[in-house]
Amino acid sequence: MDTILVVNAGSSSVKFQVFSVNGDGKLLRQIKGQMDGIGSRPRLRANDATGDVMADRAYPIESVPDVPAALMRASAWLRDELQLSPRAVGHRVVHGGPDYDRPVLIDHGVIAHLERFTALAPLHQPHNLAPIRSLLVNFPALPQVACFDTAFHRNHDEVADYYAIPRRLYDEGIRRYGFHGLSYEYIARRLQDVAPEIANGRVIVAHLGSGASMCALHGGNSVESTMGFTALDGLPMGTRTGQIDPGVILYLMSVRGMSLAEVQDFLYRDCGLKGLSGVSNDMQELQNSNDPNAAFAIDYFVYRAALQAGMLAAALQGLDGFVFTAGIGENSVGVRARIAERLEWLGVLLDPIENARHATRISRPDSRIRVYVVPTDEELMIAQHTLSLLWNRHSFSSPKRERAS
Ligand code: ADP
Repeated sequence: MDTILVVNAGSSSVKFQVFSVNGDGKLLRQIKGQMDGIGSRPRLRANDATGDVMADRAYPIESVPDVPAALMRASAWLRDELQLSPRAVGHRVVHGGPDYDRPVLIDHGVIAHLERFTALAPLHQPHNLAPIRSLLVNFPALPQVACFDTAFHRNHDEVADYYAIPRRLYDEGIRRYGFHGLSYEYIARRLQDVAPEIANGRVIVAHLGSGASMCALHGGNSVESTMGFTALDGLPMGTRTGQIDPGVILYLMSVRGMSLAEVQDFLYRDCGLKGLSGVSNDMQELQNSNDPNAAFAIDYFVYRAALQAGMLAAALQGLDGFVFTAGIGENSVGVRARIAERLEWLGVLLDPIENARHATRISRPDSRIRVYVVPTDEELMIAQHTLSLLWNRHSFSSPKRERAS
């Protein structure tokens, strides 16, 4: 059986999934796992396609000291216990910089190029690249593909890609990249099946998870994003600020004497829903809380989401559809209802019954703007990219055509 391993490596965990590729190029998810607690309490957990537990085991801290070691452990489990040797590995890489507008087959030259973008995503890029480098050294014949969160947004108009700063800084790489591109690309493709009536129109996709952003799609292509140079901009998130006046940062450094590292930590880890509520970074916990600050954090999230939706509708010069996705978007009836309510002026009319039962289409039949809930699947997107890139290079023998499960 040909299989593709999909890897999403973070600072303290490596998430992985295994997809099989059948004779006609259909991808089927077989395993979903993660090694977390890297450097503290390493633990491997994995489930099969039906959700049954395949592994749940702890490792001594010294045997999984870092992210590459975690991936090696997980690979050894796949190889030694399940006799699975993936034909290829697809990696989520947060930053493709200005150059990559599509996935790329990795070699030493590509790695060297991607390392240059570490400065653009210092908290993510090194963790994404470390396991790639280690696989390249240990399994040089194993094809690896990098799939970027930025790539889907690389064809924005210049006016959407610039900050109002001297052009030489743009040339240096200070641009409005946008993120969550793999999620938006998956949704754009999925809409062709689940909502063909809006798939080629003007659509806002709201990826509302721990990280949150929104994307304006026109004809299935990204034309604008609420995120920019980093994944800090735009909507408030679990622990990240979202849009903030840069003057606040100047104040924190000059008046409060915060160091660069403190400010970075603050903006990424202590703000957003967590900072505002003082209760939790988790939307579900906020919804279950009686604390008025938790309620305020939800109010703020809804307000900012609707505000930024207005901005994206302006970028699109009108709107045909609105799609909710990711943890909050797929699951929170209340947040969806409240954002939709704030978009009534644009022509959104939600059907409360369809919304409560998490239907795919949750707008009323007479709603001018059609509203959908579409679960995202970034890992499947990565597997599809990996398969199609390698298949074009004849690395896979059997598949005749790329198709998603
Ligand atoms: P990520 O993949 O970025 O870690 P997710 O897409 O899994 O994030 O989204 C996590 C968020 O989704 C959390 O804030 C969580 O509380 C929220 N969430 C998940 N299920 C529900 C639910 N039933 N109601 C409200 N929020 C939910």
